[in-house]
Amino acid sequence: MRPHLYRMGMREHAAQRLGQAIARERSTIERQWLDQVQRDVVTTPGVALTQLRNGMPHYLDALVKVLATGQNALDRSARSAWQDVASEHGITRVRIGFDIGQLVHEFIVLRHVIRGVIKDELGGPDSEVEGMLADVIEAAVSAAVQAYVDARDHELRRTQAENIGFLTHELRNPLSTAVLAATQLRRHAAPMQGPVLDSLDRGLGKLADLIDSVLLTQNLEAGKVRVRPVPIALGEIIEPSLEASRRVAEQKQLSFRVSFDGRLHVELDPLLTRSAIQNLVDNAVKFTDVGGVELGVEDLGERFRLHLRDSCAGISPQELRTIFEPFERGHSGKAGTGLGLAIARRAVEAQGGSIHAESSGTHGCHFWIDLPKRAKERDD
Ligand code: ADP
Repeated sequence: MRPHLYRMGMREHAAQRLGQAIARERSTIERQWLDQVQRDVVTTPGVALTQLRNGMPHYLDALVKVLATGQNALDRSARSAWQDVASEHGITRVRIGFDIGQLVHEFIVLRHVIRGVIKDELGGPDSEVEGMLADVIEAAVSAAVQAYVDARDHELRRTQAENIGFLTHELRNPLSTAVLAATQLRRHAAPMQGPVLDSLDRGLGKLADLIDSVLLTQNLEAGKVRVRPVPIALGEIIEPSLEASRRVAEQKQLSFRVSFDGRLHVELDPLLTRSAIQNLVDNAVKFTDVGGVELGVEDLGERFRLHLRDSCAGISPQELRTIFEPFERGHSGKAGTGLGLAIARRAVEAQGGSIHAESSGTHGCHFWIDLPKRAKERDD
């Protein structure tokens, strides 16, 4: 035990000394870091000084605060505060167009500058303070890089979604022309051409549905979602989403049980909420061939939970991990686009809710939606 305790004591002391030295020299560190980063790291013109500086003072402040406590600076709870600031830093670098190399280099410059400015405190290359400095910068680099990669992926998905949304939107015009032409053809068609025109209508209808679904998903994915909550009874949202599925359930001879208090008062976006529920109910009826479907609502005070249980053939654990992503489909062999659950998820999340699924893998599944009774208005 003794050598360990002794070591911890050394580290605490080192943390305190490092923290005090950084606090004392903060403005010099900041200035030198900014000069050097501007000179060595920034290659893209047009990066404003304030953008570059953003985050660094906060990062140093947070770091000093943790080090000053003298307790284990790399401890999970202690480090979270200043690592959050490092993560923020990573995100701002995506915005100003830095690559990962530039991001990492900024931290190398920071270490170099701190080392130069407080060299008297360090007491040689093998000292505890020097080691502590290396540790905290390394941890900051890893938090910043992780946040950078996440933010860049997000930006990429957003741009892709915008492009797909734009393309899909452009498909609408030729489709409307085709629908119009089909209607005119029907007027002059001989009776024997009826079945051909019916099949044309069905094809065009499916295409229109697909375009609408892709547009909705991509808009939700691109973050372009308007939430317009209105005061409404839950029954008015849910009932219209059940009509079509109820009919299909009847045709398939499935039981269709619905029990909830339709008077429950909510303030939600009816279109988004209905679309989410309808996708869940449609799926439950589509994927169930024997048995039935059951919908219920649990009142949780500020929130409510809508449950949908069915006796489908189950969803495997691998599929459960991906089904909420766009175009991800299971191996049921049933027709579909893989967009229903992606739409449902985004429609629910946009209103501050969440969506979940569980299944034993071989029989039945349970989907549930958690929603606040009062969603916030959103306009982006
Ligand atoms: P789609 O229904 O068009 O395939 P979804 O996004 O609605 O797309 O669903 C994704 C996948 O999740 C489905 O292909 C299916 O494998 C699985 N799934 C969804 N809902 C159910 C359900 N109620 N029962 C069984 N499997 C389901």
